Amino acid sequence: MDTMIHAEPFIEVRNLVAGYGGKIAVKGLSLQVAPGSHLSLLGPSGCGKSTVLRNIAGLETPLQGEIIIDGQTVFSASRRINLPPEKRRLSMVFQSYAIWPHMTVMENVAYGLRMQKLRGTDLRQRVAQALDSVGMGEFIDRPATSLSGGQQQRVALARAYAFRPKAVLLDEPLSNLDARLRVRMRTELKDLQQRFGLTTIYVTHDQEEAMALSDRVIIMREGEIEQEGAPLEIYDRPQTRFVADFIGGANILTGTVAATASGQPTIVQIGRAMLTCTTPRAACIAGPQSVAVRPVYPQMARTERAELVNQWPAQVKRRALLGDLVVYTVEWPGGTLNIHAFPTDLFDEGEAIWLHIPPSRAVLLRNVATAGVAGVAA
Ligand code: ADP
Repeated sequence: MDTMIHAEPFIEVRNLVAGYGGKIAVKGLSLQVAPGSHLSLLGPSGCGKSTVLRNIAGLETPLQGEIIIDGQTVFSASRRINLPPEKRRLSMVFQSYAIWPHMTVMENVAYGLRMQKLRGTDLRQRVAQALDSVGMGEFIDRPATSLSGGQQQRVALARAYAFRPKAVLLDEPLSNLDARLRVRMRTELKDLQQRFGLTTIYVTHDQEEAMALSDRVIIMREGEIEQEGAPLEIYDRPQTRFVADFIGGANILTGTVAATASGQPTIVQIGRAMLTCTTPRAACIAGPQSVAVRPVYPQMARTERAELVNQWPAQVKRRALLGDLVVYTVEWPGGTLNIHAFPTDLFDEGEAIWLHIPPSRAVLLRNVATAGVAGVAA
């Protein structure tokens, strides 16, 4: 993992400012993608994900910034460099499969290869290889219209990979498929990406997709990066409420810092509870503080355990059995808490329990109100 992060980036974007007709959609964004790795841009609709992708592909012209692909500057506002899309050797797959209905599968995949002057048996062989890699080899001579949505999307992927691009840019490629197929294609995409070792940037608003596919995830909000990290890092250490809410579920507890000192756990008073948090805190200042607790981490028990920090008597208020998962609403001195547990050891509604929140799972969030001065206060 470490070597990947420290390798020379294959795609680098520096201070990208982009928009449409005077309206700024991306506000000075920088990112790096390591060779052969998968980066997802994740965020709500309209936050600028597609705009970043289209500017990297060369389909839009940035207002400011630089874009470097495989060591070559393909765009630089200051140096007046702007390579056309075909010279960037990137492949892009969109949400709508963009399969040409009047052509056969062969012709659809061959299109980009013909541009590279491939002909005859060489051409057919490359097409067949690409189709085999997505499990569509036997469909080579079928008309494109005879394919299902999932099959069409696989053909679109085969076309994207067939001309051996430097990297692939995928914009919500699965969002037109039904839920079951999406999950299957997700696994197939991951296999493909790993088999070809292709550097990939993937735009999605689906957190599961981003978590399942990515080496790194960038959470975007209103044209800026809110947080970047490995999927688990973002899940376990969300820095802001926005990220905590966007990825996974989170209990957001609000209270006041009661004690904080360098090298010591921070103690936050939440209602009548003193919550010990051992997660790092950006700025050690007293005052209001939000804490995120993922619903999978609090523990419920029938007996008190003397050795535990962050343990309180509590009561089960509600229980919802969702099959593989049980969702509890628990009342504790800090208010109410949602807890996700397995249905292996069920607690009853109304049952008195002991609640434990591991101090390492109480994540101190960056307070949006003080974020601007956090550097000063630290
Ligand atoms: P996302 O991919 O995250 O949904 P987009 O990059 O598509 O977001 O859009 C970012 C912002 O730019 C939005 O406010 C959107 O309305 C605007 N926008 C996107 N495409 C165009 C366009 N072709 N013309 C004008 N505004 C656009």
